[in-house]
Amino acid sequence: MQTVKEKTCSERLVMVRYGELFLKSDPVKHHFIGLLLRNIGKALNASALQGHYETPRGRILIFGAEPEKIADIVSRIFGLVDVSICTKTGGTIEDLCREAVILAKERLSAGMSFAVRAKRQQKTGLDSQVLGARIGSAIYEEIPGLYVDLDHPDYEVFIEVRDFGGLVYDSRISAPGGLPWGTQGRALVLLSSGIDSPVASWLAMKRGCEINHLHLDGGRWAGCDVKAAAIENHRRLSRWCAGYPLMMVIANSEPLYDQMQELRIPPRYRCVICKRFMLKVAANLMGHEGALALITGENLGQVASQTLVNLSVISEGVTVPVLRPLITHDKEEIVTIARRIGTFDTHPGDLACRAVPKMPATAAELKVILECEQKMEIELLVSRACTELVYVTALNSEIITGT
Ligand code: ATP
Ligand code: MG
Repeated sequence: MQTVKEKTCSERLVMVRYGELFLKSDPVKHHFIGLLLRNIGKALNASALQGHYETPRGRILIFGAEPEKIADIVSRIFGLVDVSICTKTGGTIEDLCREAVILAKERLSAGMSFAVRAKRQQKTGLDSQVLGARIGSAIYEEIPGLYVDLDHPDYEVFIEVRDFGGLVYDSRISAPGGLPWGTQGRALVLLSSGIDSPVASWLAMKRGCEINHLHLDGGRWAGCDVKAAAIENHRRLSRWCAGYPLMMVIANSEPLYDQMQELRIPPRYRCVICKRFMLKVAANLMGHEGALALITGENLGQVASQTLVNLSVISEGVTVPVLRPLITHDKEEIVTIARRIGTFDTHPGDLACRAVPKMPATAAELKVILECEQKMEIELLVSRACTELVYVTALNSEIITGT
């Protein structure tokens, strides 16, 4: 015969909540939930886990062995707002009380405060307040010396009564929110060794974009650890689309800097010409990559090439959409996100750009830049950069092919 504890373990499941999806019309919601289930399935398969699903209103229930591992993986799935490991019970007040007491006994002791948060799907039976009070009393009777604090409790237990029975849980793991990967089409992100562009890439993923990365390898003009750090950023970001291979293309930009030096282009224009070149290469490659937009980690006023004047001169180089998710973020805000998503401390070492002049232009004139580019035969440099490509594929935090 099963003991109560064994019975409890066999009925544990992972419940996830989606946020913004809930606001969509029914057909769109249905479509997005289908994509969400596909993404969850791929992420679990990638870790050799399996689950089956139920989709009661506003929730996805995932049944499978090892709910802790499942919860950890799905807490990185875009479109989900939070994740709880729950126990599925019968719908009677006795079932709910028994389970709530089992959970509370593991966490509560005399002198602590607690609150019961009860909800019910149907408007029949005990109302939420009465339900909460009854379950609260059951906990109170079993564990002496507790007190109820509905505003700032030490411990909360959540009860949901649904048409299939009850769900009881006591923790909520935050998930990133946003929209499911694959709902907004593909974008090509210009990924560097720095802090900003990985955050820009993550924010675009968060809004449902499928992502490819492009890194421009400056060769001897780039610090000797730059390429490895960019690949490390790429590898770490692949954790956020588990089950989907994340592609990075690396193009060679060394000839650009050689040409600027050889033709004695005024060093103050180098950064603007370099950023225009990067966008031009990206715009040339985006069709091949199936991308609809380019994404950069540029930010208003962060460095000399990012004044509003320079950003407008940089944007003029291409006609395709260029999205800059970080445009108005303060550096502190960017660093906070970078820490949270695991890309902050990517790589120590020599990450300097040797082409950066002492006094970069903060208000480059388009006319002058175009003259420089004409002299450099920029279009030839762009098409040459697009022919020598190296691909690096990352899957679930591992580089599976590439340099
Ligand atoms: P980040 O801005 O990512 O921290 P960074 O500070 O080295 O990197 P910036 O000079 O601020 O680079 O460049 C602005 C943006 O241009 C970057 O956010 C990134 O999108 C793109 N970029 C810069 N260097 C490269 C590179 N080597 N390859 C691809 N894209 C790059
Ligand atoms: Mg930057």
